[in-house]
Amino acid sequence: MTHLYVDGEWREPVAEGRRDIRCPADGTLVATVAEGTRPDVEAAIAAARRAFDGGPWPRTSERERGALLLRTADLMERDAKEFARAESLDTGKRLVESEYDIADVVSCFRHYGGIAGTDAGRVVDTGRDDAVSRVVYEPVGVCGLITPWNYPLLQASWKVAPALLAGNTIILKPSELTPSTSILLMKALEEAGLPAGAANLVLGAGPEVGAPLSEHPDVDLVSFTGGLETGKRIMASAAATVKKMALELGGKNPNVVFADADFEAAVDFALTAVFLHSGQVCSAGARLIVEDTLHDRFVDEVVRRARLVRLGGPFDPEAETGPLISAQHLAKVEAYVAAGIAEGAVLRCGGARPDDPALGNGHYYPPTVLDACTQDMRVVHEESFGPVLTVERFTDEDDAVRIANDTDYGLAGAVWTQDAGRAQRVAQRLRHGTVWINDYHPYVPQAEWGGFGHSGVGRELGRSGLDEYREPKHIWQNIQPRPQRWFRG
Ligand code: NAD
Repeated sequence: MTHLYVDGEWREPVAEGRRDIRCPADGTLVATVAEGTRPDVEAAIAAARRAFDGGPWPRTSERERGALLLRTADLMERDAKEFARAESLDTGKRLVESEYDIADVVSCFRHYGGIAGTDAGRVVDTGRDDAVSRVVYEPVGVCGLITPWNYPLLQASWKVAPALLAGNTIILKPSELTPSTSILLMKALEEAGLPAGAANLVLGAGPEVGAPLSEHPDVDLVSFTGGLETGKRIMASAAATVKKMALELGGKNPNVVFADADFEAAVDFALTAVFLHSGQVCSAGARLIVEDTLHDRFVDEVVRRARLVRLGGPFDPEAETGPLISAQHLAKVEAYVAAGIAEGAVLRCGGARPDDPALGNGHYYPPTVLDACTQDMRVVHEESFGPVLTVERFTDEDDAVRIANDTDYGLAGAVWTQDAGRAQRVAQRLRHGTVWINDYHPYVPQAEWGGFGHSGVGRELGRSGLDEYREPKHIWQNIQPRPQRWFRG
């Protein structure tokens, strides 16, 4: 089973491991893929090291590297249907959502392909006539890229495209639950002409195949998107070899609604914010913070509409959202809801697995609204990563900002109001990496993505996304070298 891509070849894992990938929507077997172990990662690291130290990729011009990203984007666009289908089968998400994701993946590769060669560094004024000085950018080296299961290829593309553009060599380690589109990505890079060893793919479990990337002395940078606890472990183990680091660790994101908000739009987006992809979105608006005077009417309408949300598999045209990724994750979401109720939250809808026999083999959980929540509840301050909306009330602007910022995380958030001044004031005061005004979830590849607080370290997308993968290097040249005679002897 040749699913590991190492040194430009498709390989069997050393220990001949296998893993069945089952669709979370109905448990059907989607694929059986190779399962790597430590020796496979070590081979991939060695290949990436050789390709960085002596191979052609870091030595090609940035424009040539950008051209390869653009060719890869074209190939993925050509095969978009196959990519989207594979993504839906692995994740259980609706096909139409996977189609959007693949379009975003193509845009990401085009974004980085498009900025290639537009920033060659800068000349620095030395204030002297006998020296010139400039700052150029160098790739960091060998990069270990570790990705989660919720947006498998999109998360990979946010790392792979800038890392390759900067001239690094990479080892991609996707979530063991959703490997299929990473395999397809490697095929596209291969077809686009990427030299051997520049991109490598290892599949397998986190502790076995991911951990070596943060420990190995030949890896220079580790970029990780995933859960907070895993991120802390990776950060600690990468400290021993002082790796460069980028971490995208999730959020517990506030959606603040003032009484003067456009009612229909704010209700509609309150649903999208948290129930899109069944809440398995790092920027999910899982904390609805609503002005006291609007609370009852607003929450009644959110609950009415939440009850109507249709669950179903990737190819069910009536489905509005899909299953959770695994039985284990479903149990975790249930536990958060139970804890919330035990701590005093009022269950307004959802809260129990659906009894529809058609959904019986999938990991489904319905849109759930917990009212009367307070900041001390676990379900309010920890990430359930499921379709669970907690509702809190506020009295005025200061109160809204206080509640919204009362989180260790700081990834994203939104404010809804028709008062333009207030919208700007609140947006400025929210300590979150992305703030939407009268909207939720849109992003553009040109703008930075990343979080304050425990949401992470470093940024993805935009130009800073590229800067994570390159080192500025100052080059000083004395153009009239002559004895300085500092010391007379
Ligand atoms: P996870 O932390 O369980 O796993 C993420 C990846 O890390 C997987 O590939 C996994 O195999 C690997 N891994 C696990 N243990 C490891 C270890 N010890 N060393 C190295 N790698 C290891 O996360 P998940 O459940 O796959 O994803 C959900 C989480 O991802 C959520 O918390 C979500 O908020 C977060 N997320 C964040 C963003 C963002 O942009 N900030 C985006 C998407 C997802």
